[in-house]
Amino acid sequence: MRTLNCMVLALLVLTIGAVAQQAALAPETQQPASANQPAAAQPAAAQPAAAPAAPAALATPVTMDQVVDRFIEREKGLIKMLSARTPVVETYLQNLTQDTQLGPVPKDDHYFLGRMDLTDSIDRNDYLKDKEDGMQKRLLGGFTKLFKFQYQPLGFSWMIYADRNDFDRQHYEFRYVRREFTGDVRTLVFDVTPKKDAGKGRFLGRIWVEDQDFNIVRLNGTYTHASRNTYYFHMDSWRLNLIPGYWVPTYIYSEEGDFTAGAKNKIAFKAQTRMWGYNLKAGTANDELTQIRVDSVKDETPSAQDASPLAAQREWQQQAEDNVLERLQRSGLLAPEGELDKVLQTVVNNLQITNNIELPRPIRTRVLITSPLETFSVGNTIVISRGMIDVLPDEASLAAVLSHELAHVVLGHNLGSQYAFNDRMLFSDESTYQNFGFKHIPEEEAAADKKAIEMLKNSPYAQKLDAAGLFIKVLQTRAPQLAALLQAHLGNSIAENGTVTRMSQLATSAPALDWNKLDQIAALPLGGRVRLNAWDNKVEMVKAQPVAITSARDKMPFEVTPFFPRLTRYGANTPNAGPVSATTASSANVSAPTN
Ligand SMILES: [Zn+2]
Repeated sequence: MRTLNCMVLALLVLTIGAVAQQAALAPETQQPASANQPAAAQPAAAQPAAAPAAPAALATPVTMDQVVDRFIEREKGLIKMLSARTPVVETYLQNLTQDTQLGPVPKDDHYFLGRMDLTDSIDRNDYLKDKEDGMQKRLLGGFTKLFKFQYQPLGFSWMIYADRNDFDRQHYEFRYVRREFTGDVRTLVFDVTPKKDAGKGRFLGRIWVEDQDFNIVRLNGTYTHASRNTYYFHMDSWRLNLIPGYWVPTYIYSEEGDFTAGAKNKIAFKAQTRMWGYNLKAGTANDELTQIRVDSVKDETPSAQDASPLAAQREWQQQAEDNVLERLQRSGLLAPEGELDKVLQTVVNNLQITNNIELPRPIRTRVLITSPLETFSVGNTIVISRGMIDVLPDEASLAAVLSHELAHVVLGHNLGSQYAFNDRMLFSDESTYQNFGFKHIPEEEAAADKKAIEMLKNSPYAQKLDAAGLFIKVLQTRAPQLAALLQAHLGNSIAENGTVTRMSQLATSAPALDWNKLDQIAALPLGGRVRLNAWDNKVEMVKAQPVAITSARDKMPFEVTPFFPRLTRYGANTPNAGPVSATTASSANVSAPTN
């Protein structure tokens, strides 16, 4: 078992080394484009990420007034550069209630996923069918009708800019506060207040400006003035230097609520907003041409005969599988193949080898970029969501989750062959969830669970299934409050109506859940394991420093926490410096003993 952990850890280290190299090599492979060039003319997403040309170097400002002028100009440059982009935007929100032992805990949750259009105004199209009708309203910043409470997803993504139209000296006062290191990047901190007659909906708060090109890297604050029926959230908005010269909006954390004695909360919630897929292109014909698979064209069969019926069936399934993966990646929902997949494949491999499972084609794994906890399989590919990887406490739990999908493949529960017909790939990105589905019937779900447990018991994870069982247990305690997080959008949900259905047998043999046992980490908060590059959608494992848990309140299973990315400059050789949520208390315990 030791060696197994070492293997995966070694893989992790390899991953990080490889990424560092890529980062160092990237500038050579960049294809500089004029800043005015329309996005459609750039190479397609399948190519190495094409970045806009970095802005020309200017003389270093010498006075604070000049610094202010410079960051105002850079902000306008960013708005212009992003105006042709349509990133994916996801907001996951937990409403809070007070628990005497655990503090503020989730009461219920909401999930929004859409594409932002960053042209003249900030607009978005949602992937999820609008349930409450309120999503379609184009309200800026907050939401109206405080008493008939509705969340406006647009509101959560509003703070990608301080002020889309009027970020200037006519509307704002800028007061220099101090210098500060934010990660590896030295920043100048300014307080920003709207001028008296600047009007409603103006930014009020603080900005951090890096001291090289004077781009804003962080915004923290709210908008003024709240009127009787408009309310603005407080937000903490982070940008990352993912392409030369620009800092790209990536994370926004929002929080409202007061849990001090006597406070009467009308609203108490925490929400994480993530943006990604800035380099995704609208599906043009050109774009599709570059994505044709050439590797499956070569005929490697020994005889020159037609495929046998079984071989034809397998090829048909392969075609469907390739179609689905390619389409999901183009929609911005699936990360490109990468190093993280190798970590997942190692775990699947461990299960296969110890169970003598030989398949006609190797199992592949891919990462769905979204937060809801879900897995599904199509053909021989197992897909697992970023949110799911985030919350799993250790490798055995990951194995348990993957084993269910491996079981579907082994049992021949093939889904998705209808997608071998290419007309079924022709839909808008936003309607992906309406056009794809990989849900098994309950009988196949039960059979897969049974087979998965069998495989786990033969595997190197057999002695560590307590951790997986505890994960199921803590999931069960939180399932009634986390319907949105547990709602699968493509595969089967792991819980139905507040009850965990997936692999629930594992919980029966697990030890009792004990909040006061500080070394019992049954599940992690969201956001601590996987780092996503918002520009090119690549994912990798985060190597966070472990932070000691000092009370039951530090555990925060499945919870939303603030973001605190360690800022680094583009190309800087600091592979471990990734965006890490503020409280990834236990995210480094991949190989920690679990009991
Ligand atoms: Zn299943």
